[in-house]
Amino acid sequence: MASPGDVSVGSQKDVSQERQKKMIAEHFHRLSTAHEAGRKCAYTFVPGNLTELLHCFDVLPVLPEINALQSGMRGKSRDYINLAEKLGHSEDVCTYVKCDVGMLRSGNTGPTGERLPNPDLLLLSYTGCFTFMKWFEILAQEYDAPVAMLHVPYQGDGEITDAMRKYVVDQLRKKVIPALEEISGVSYDEDRLKDLLARSARAEDDLVHVLESAKHRPSPIDAYFGGVYYIGPIFTAFRGTQDAVDYYRELRLEIDERVRLGKGPMTPDGELSDEQYRVVVEGPPNWTSFRQFWQMFAEQGAVVVASSYTKVGGLYDTGFRHDPERPLESLAEYCMGCYTNLNLPSRVDLLSRYVQDYEADGFLVHSVKSCNSFSSGQLMIMREVENRTGRPGGFIESDLVDPRYFSASNIKNRLESYFQMIEQKRAGDDA
Ligand code: SF4
Repeated sequence: MASPGDVSVGSQKDVSQERQKKMIAEHFHRLSTAHEAGRKCAYTFVPGNLTELLHCFDVLPVLPEINALQSGMRGKSRDYINLAEKLGHSEDVCTYVKCDVGMLRSGNTGPTGERLPNPDLLLLSYTGCFTFMKWFEILAQEYDAPVAMLHVPYQGDGEITDAMRKYVVDQLRKKVIPALEEISGVSYDEDRLKDLLARSARAEDDLVHVLESAKHRPSPIDAYFGGVYYIGPIFTAFRGTQDAVDYYRELRLEIDERVRLGKGPMTPDGELSDEQYRVVVEGPPNWTSFRQFWQMFAEQGAVVVASSYTKVGGLYDTGFRHDPERPLESLAEYCMGCYTNLNLPSRVDLLSRYVQDYEADGFLVHSVKSCNSFSSGQLMIMREVENRTGRPGGFIESDLVDPRYFSASNIKNRLESYFQMIEQKRAGDDA
């Protein structure tokens, strides 16, 4: 799971968007020249990422999910997936994996057209998705790089216990930190980590402020389609950096200004001035037809006011912040608190709360064929959220980066029927 980075929102760009685009382009350039510059790189995943810890050793993160979704947005994923299937990967395998395999077998050119470096370390943070393990087994066969595994216990009982926290911290101390010291030649410096975590917390405060601005009417943001841009830096290579602090402060000020002026969110076709429907969305977006998918909502005046996807790389709006006073403990809590590491009752609680707190008209599931982490239990979640909130649920399906599974007419029909259902419910409530 991941977020898109440098693909623009609509035709008008805010200053924060320009800043983000530049940050991401610079990161990919740093990656392409990393080995010449003597920098080391770790391949790792978005949920439960240890970005601050990597920065502590001057190690650069490479996130295969980001590369896959970027390939999807740039129309390259079809060929990559075809190639992976020719190599024997089944149609049922997560399409992020096949896209990544196809990309690396096609020369490992990243989204900006520059070559990605080979990994010096495969840092497998196992957070709620078994596919992560199989994915890195494949990468371990492709590359001559050591693997460090961080096993993150699932929140099966809906809470983080002391034993779970200790289990993760012990792995950080005994496995992950020594592996990073080994590849980088840099010694672990806890004060440096604390500084990084303090910057993370500042950026997290501002991100939460931005996401919660959707409680206003009209909402100044779209917390799903727009939201994936907002989570870009913090879910990827920038947590703990001054760049992230500056980006989120700038974004916060821009959104505050939109609230002050009573403006709706930006969409691919400009500003949405007539908010008709407020919905909460569960599940990741489709990337191959991202713009078209978003337009289907915007054309109906539908704004997503909260989404689970923007919590996949960290759940901050329930209060968690990286804590410089408890550096490794708070990294452990962060990993265990990512959305896909929550059990189904916790997900239902969270989503029901979103529907109520953000005064949504309904709850919509976008189920993607690829992703078991998200998709399992979604119908049950939908029924339960409907029961608890009394707001109508809807269900649409496509995929992450396999364009064969995006049927525009089907999705459009379903969305139109869904918004009609909301109208009927309103009429019934008014009667
Ligand atoms: S199955 Fe889902 S969570 Fe797992 S790697 Fe694929 S997209 Fe990510």
